[in-house]
Amino acid sequence: MIEVKNITKRYGSLTVLRDFSVDFDESGVTVILGPSGTGKSTLLRCINGLESIETGDILVNGLSVLEKRNLRSIRLNCGMVFQSTILFPHLNVLENLILSPMKLLGVKRSEAEEQARYYLAKVGLASKEEARHNELSGGEQQRIAIARAMIMNPKALLLDEITSALDPEMSVEVLRLLEKLASDGVTMLIVTHELSFAQKVARRVLFLEGGSLIADASNEVFFNDLKFNNERIARFLQHIN
Ligand code: ADP
Ligand code: MG
Repeated sequence: MIEVKNITKRYGSLTVLRDFSVDFDESGVTVILGPSGTGKSTLLRCINGLESIETGDILVNGLSVLEKRNLRSIRLNCGMVFQSTILFPHLNVLENLILSPMKLLGVKRSEAEEQARYYLAKVGLASKEEARHNELSGGEQQRIAIARAMIMNPKALLLDEITSALDPEMSVEVLRLLEKLASDGVTMLIVTHELSFAQKVARRVLFLEGGSLIADASNEVFFNDLKFNNERIARFLQHIN
């Protein structure tokens, strides 16, 4: 579903991704691990067409990010959630959720509200539809952000360290939600430093360092073998535990 083909991504003289290739098919959770500054966010942003690439190509459902006219469809196919989320402060939660379906997909208000309530229930926040941004905890804001991405019915969710600005308790509530979505079969690419969560939900684990893919393994191989036997990975995992 997502094909990253020999891409190079530079910021000025800094090469972040170097002749980088990876494919994602349509099922299950892929967790992306790796040290800070290694290109994980850049990779997700390139897939979503938020960053341009210097060489290579990325296809999402066969559509290239190099063509401007494909970007809208690519972004609809890949819903992205970031480290922190700002909901429109003058709108309540329900209004925040129905905005994109109405504006981008032409869904009628009544139908959009019905969908919004469905996804709010899914993320456990049915009671918050009238709340505003400043009345929600950080964890609740992130769960709303997930609902806001899911209401667009994307083929995959790209989640970039969405718990790293949260205190441990709120992280747990967001990670629990992701576990539930994973068991519902939602396709996700998740950048995280939460190892035990990664081990629980990932079907596949990628390890990036210095703009290259150091490992691309099944959960079992990564956590039973590479975790101990790949020196670089072992060192990284010890460091974050
Ligand atoms: P990660 O998500 O793995 O921590 P990033 O993809 O955010 O890493 O960043 C990779 C490298 O690119 C880092 O060295 C970072 O400083 C640099 N970088 C990221 N975004 C920009 C930008 N907009 N302009 C210049 N350099 C950037
Ligand atoms: Mg990052």
